[in-house]
Amino acid sequence: MEQQTPLFEVLLNNKDKILKAEKYNEIEFENFIDSLRQAENQRQIIFNKIKEMGELNIEKLKKEFEISEENLILNIEYLKELGLLEVIGEKSEFYQSIQKKNEKEGLFPDVSVIRDKNICSGCGLCVSICPINAISFINDILTINEESCFNCGLCYACCPRSFFPKELEKNQQIIDADTKYIKEFNYFKNIYTAQTKEDHIKERAQDGGIITTLLKTAFNQKLIDAALVVEESEKPLEPLPSLVENEADLLKSTGTKYSNAHVLKILQNSKKYKKIAIVGTPCILNALKKISFYPLNRPFYDNITLKIGLFCMESFDYENIIGILKSEFQKTPEQIKKMDINKGRFYIHDKMGDSFNIPIKNVKKYARFGCFLCDDLTSELSDISVGSIGSESGWSTVIVRTKKGTNLLQETLSQKLIEIKDIKEESKSFISLSRIAKSKEKLYKEIPRHKMIEQEPKIRKTNFQEVPKGLSLEMVKLETQRCLQCGNPLCVTGCPVNVNIPQFIKLLKTEKFLEAIHLMKDYNLLPAICGRVCPQEVQCESKCLLSSVGKPIAIGYLERFIADWETKNKLKECPECKAPNHIKVAIIGSGPSGLTCAGELAREGYEVTIFEAFHAGGGVLIYGIPEFRLPKEIVKDEIETLKMINVDINYNTIIGKTLYIEDLKDMGYKAIFIGVGAGLPIFIKVPGLTLNGVLTANEFLTRSNLMKAYKFPEYDTPIKIGEIVTVLGGGNVTMDSARVALRLGAKRVIVVYRRSEVEMPARREEYHHALEEGIEFQFLTNPVRFIGDENDNVNQMEVKKMRLGEPDDSGRRRPIPIENSEYLIDTDTIIIAIGTRANPILTKSIPDLKLNKWGYIETNENGKTNLEGVFAGGDIVTGSATVISAMGAGKRASKAIHEYLTHN
Ligand code: FAD
Repeated sequence: MEQQTPLFEVLLNNKDKILKAEKYNEIEFENFIDSLRQAENQRQIIFNKIKEMGELNIEKLKKEFEISEENLILNIEYLKELGLLEVIGEKSEFYQSIQKKNEKEGLFPDVSVIRDKNICSGCGLCVSICPINAISFINDILTINEESCFNCGLCYACCPRSFFPKELEKNQQIIDADTKYIKEFNYFKNIYTAQTKEDHIKERAQDGGIITTLLKTAFNQKLIDAALVVEESEKPLEPLPSLVENEADLLKSTGTKYSNAHVLKILQNSKKYKKIAIVGTPCILNALKKISFYPLNRPFYDNITLKIGLFCMESFDYENIIGILKSEFQKTPEQIKKMDINKGRFYIHDKMGDSFNIPIKNVKKYARFGCFLCDDLTSELSDISVGSIGSESGWSTVIVRTKKGTNLLQETLSQKLIEIKDIKEESKSFISLSRIAKSKEKLYKEIPRHKMIEQEPKIRKTNFQEVPKGLSLEMVKLETQRCLQCGNPLCVTGCPVNVNIPQFIKLLKTEKFLEAIHLMKDYNLLPAICGRVCPQEVQCESKCLLSSVGKPIAIGYLERFIADWETKNKLKECPECKAPNHIKVAIIGSGPSGLTCAGELAREGYEVTIFEAFHAGGGVLIYGIPEFRLPKEIVKDEIETLKMINVDINYNTIIGKTLYIEDLKDMGYKAIFIGVGAGLPIFIKVPGLTLNGVLTANEFLTRSNLMKAYKFPEYDTPIKIGEIVTVLGGGNVTMDSARVALRLGAKRVIVVYRRSEVEMPARREEYHHALEEGIEFQFLTNPVRFIGDENDNVNQMEVKKMRLGEPDDSGRRRPIPIENSEYLIDTDTIIIAIGTRANPILTKSIPDLKLNKWGYIETNENGKTNLEGVFAGGDIVTGSATVISAMGAGKRASKAIHEYLTHN
């Protein structure tokens, strides 16, 4: 295929390695290659036709080829996943998101993408399919031997979680006159509740013993010669995939149903049998369906004759089953006889004959992450599926789907091995089963993520009004419906202050807005600010499970919505505070770390005073981040809230000049928090630095924001701006400087960055906004010197092209100059935005304060410095970071200060 190495060729090139691994003998290998070749040839023909047509028109394509519509669509989906249909504008979200990782052109990536994205279902098919045994599960974690892997990508292509076209979800082959369709169950013929009559099976079975009894019939009738099931390992309840060959061995297969056993990892061993039955959860059946269509390991898997599905609300790995028993029931696996789900509760029955139960929702947090993306409760792709939901304890619900399933059940009945009763559609059991199936379906909805309403780029680049306008109520309602409410939400771990995001979204979804804002403020006192400037894409949103299959929940937008809702409805309340304790605490600096620390301590009853060098509070929020990103009214509003709880602010006070730490102690402050940020600009070492028109981003932004140059002539404090402005750097400060320069009247603004777009640390949203506004970017470019005219006004900059080498200490690839690549850029203003470092004014005035080699204050994880009663946090400890991390530090330090003052 164009620019692609066909899979069969990759395998052919590695034939020796494959034969050595002994999964295939020579003949089997040739058969396998033939089947792949045929499939790829067919796809190639379809691809060529699509390219020739220049569009994706199924009707026209159907006329061209004598293949079924289903077959056509599934091939198209495959092509999409390979990224080949991008030429006609058809993109796959999943493949897009991994493409950067997959540098070996022409092949699917390996299945580590699925593992990294936390959506592995644990079916085990990749282990079996890997032609050189490079994949294994170690402690339930899919592991790849990178040395032996030759990146054929078979594992990715067969994985049910990599891509699973909607067409594959249909079980259409089974449709006949008796078939019914209900969305939650897919196609089926009948639903029963059933129980085995075989006492020895009943004794061991977890529920009604139906699966074991059905398999017994299948063996007796010679419908199968082996069954792929799960048995208990030497460790109680630990599941072990197993191939049983006869009825006698069947009894081993029980006892482990809630933990996932990577059953398909031994599928390769089944090739010696002619007719096998497979018992598995929906993800296992999905995997089988996928390889039945995409012939990724033919001819082996043509021997699967019977598929028995298990109902599955969510599955657990073995460690988590132990975790449930230990944490929720204080039991060990040795004590357990059976586990069960019934009427919305999770049951354990111990060997002493006692039973205990808890609501199912309590076990959700132990489930595999990927389970939250699965909407199939009843194993819709089976011949017959079995589970406990919908039946009395000791009985099983049985959904018969295919003729094969019907015959097997009838045969088992006629041998009097089971008893069954119909579940009628109007019965309680049916209603409860469909309700639960529907609730699972609701988990994953393909609602697109909402884009925020924004000012048009053409208009906004001429004003300083806020660019994004927020989400409407309708958008919020839809956005909250996308949340999967995962049991073990990773978004919370991605948030530096650990906001309970799922609970927050749940409250928004049910329109309990007041409760939502209260919950948010329990964790984060400044949601209006964080909702606007937090880099959610690398924090909470980057961890959202939905980002594995598309776009994450817009957590930042929702945060902003609730904060704005509170302001709009004038519901801002004075936060509750404890009674004053008359203990004085001094906070140096009014940036996010200082404000948060002050707020938390005031709520604890302390008498808090902030000392701020500038004439306005907010730190970078007020003098750095421009109005169009963060309206200053919002920052002022937050400061007003602090004043409501009696936080006092002394402006124009530089600690280390106007007052010293000792003075603060003399004034009765029992503890001190230092949150002075890292506002000293770093200069680039090139000739021409002192020319007129060369300035730092700090000066430029402070003059625009704090000194209100942007409001000239209303404020008589203008700033000179040239026609062509060049900004050096690639972070948020660079984007802000470039966009401010544009709004102040520059005709052309060029960002010069020494690395590539990928390494740029700026928030993606700001970068895209800058692009939309017409800012130009020259990547892999570094200044050599600034050149001035006869009046020492800068008029040109000499730059050099760079290439990327190995990663440096920051983990980003190091830029390396390319010899003789210099050229000139015309410019009359240069803004240096390449970073900042600690300002030594305060730290030099406290000689005993321990600093690190870069001049930042050393603290423990709670912000305690080496000096008694002195704490620090935010950028002055970490170096330039983010608003939310500074707030997190302020919060942690407030707790440590409270602790300190309580005990001293
Ligand atoms: P600061 O916000 O720097 O506040 C320190 C305060 O201490 C200042 O008010 C200062 O005047 C005062 N001070 C300093 N020395 C003294 C002294 N000796 N005595 C008294 N007062 C003193 N982060 C994000 O998360 N998202 C963004 O989009 C983002 N954009 C940014 C854009 C710009 C232009 C800049 C510069 C930074 C940006 N950041 C962003 C980073 C973020 O703003 C900082 O990480 C955060 O503000 C640090 O908070 P802080 O409390 O440690 O210090």
